[in-house]
Amino acid sequence: MYGSVPTRRAVLLMNPETEHFRELIDTYHDGIYFVDCDRVITYWNKGAEELTGYTSDEVLGRRCMDDILCHVDHCAGDPMCGSACPLASSMDDGETRVAQVFLKHKQGHRQPVVMRTAPIRDTRGVIVGGVEVFSDHSEMHETRAQLEELERMALLDPLTGIGNRRYFEMNLHARLDERHRYGTPFGLLLIDLDHFKLVNDDHGHDVGDAVLKMIAQTLAYSCRKSDLACRWGGEEFALILGNMEAGGLREAVERVRRLIRKSAHVLPDDRKLRVTFSGGAVLAQADDTDSSIFQRADALLYQSKQAGRNRVGFDDGVD
Ligand code: GH3
Ligand code: MG
Ligand code: MG
Repeated sequence: MYGSVPTRRAVLLMNPETEHFRELIDTYHDGIYFVDCDRVITYWNKGAEELTGYTSDEVLGRRCMDDILCHVDHCAGDPMCGSACPLASSMDDGETRVAQVFLKHKQGHRQPVVMRTAPIRDTRGVIVGGVEVFSDHSEMHETRAQLEELERMALLDPLTGIGNRRYFEMNLHARLDERHRYGTPFGLLLIDLDHFKLVNDDHGHDVGDAVLKMIAQTLAYSCRKSDLACRWGGEEFALILGNMEAGGLREAVERVRRLIRKSAHVLPDDRKLRVTFSGGAVLAQADDTDSSIFQRADALLYQSKQAGRNRVGFDDGVD
């Protein structure tokens, strides 16, 4: 039912007095109610009972604006029962409407819903009432709230869409804490793209940006559930590789290298632009701090650059 406003034909055929019809619309999870031209509620389905907390007996014969649902506007929180009522407007002009609103649950809290309204006409086409269908919108609301929270805390890198340095530092701290408390092993891989300045110099900054996005995406795809890839800054990335024993770190880093080697940015003339990286990979030690683990990986990254680039240095107890 969600997503559909009753068509004119369907509305003409609807007769809430019919038992068969009641049974049918009682099976929908959406809330559905009918009002007459005075906005007196004439039908209230089971979905409406569940979403609002009001039983059919409590609302039939009352006007929807009589302190029952008290819709408020999704954005501004303004009351909608006066001139802004979509159901009344649908009955006035015969148009269907869709709106995101909050209704008042019987227990007092505000419930986010998507509401759809349409007029009800008699066989001559005269508007004799209205119907409102409303669906729970709380899940979408939660997702949006989470994203807003991440944005508010500024944890996403705007160019690549993966976590930024701050997000990385928070996670590194949490992993070390786990390492100290429970001995949960993990690895850290720092990556710096090789000769990236040349990419900008040869192809322009926009192409450089596109390559950074492509690399970030590849790194994110290379991650398993227990891993995390973030942009440390500029052309540098940091990966946390979870559940990692000594031999596993080399395997995981090799997986990342293989994926980067196979990825490319396609230039307008169809040439493929590939980049390599240098890295430092370490296994977290019992006495590591946030800065010591980072410094160990950074020193290995520096050595990889000195040794000619396109390689990764390891400190993982494996010779
Ligand atoms: P190396 O192998 O020694 O790391 O050489 P490199 O050229 O990669 O290193 P360098 O530190 O000299 O230059 C980093 C380059 O990365 C220069 C800078 O303009 C570029 N860069 C950093 N952030 C961005 C960005 O957000 N977009 C683009 N397009 N380029 C960036
Ligand atoms: Mg760099
Ligand atoms: Mg570089």
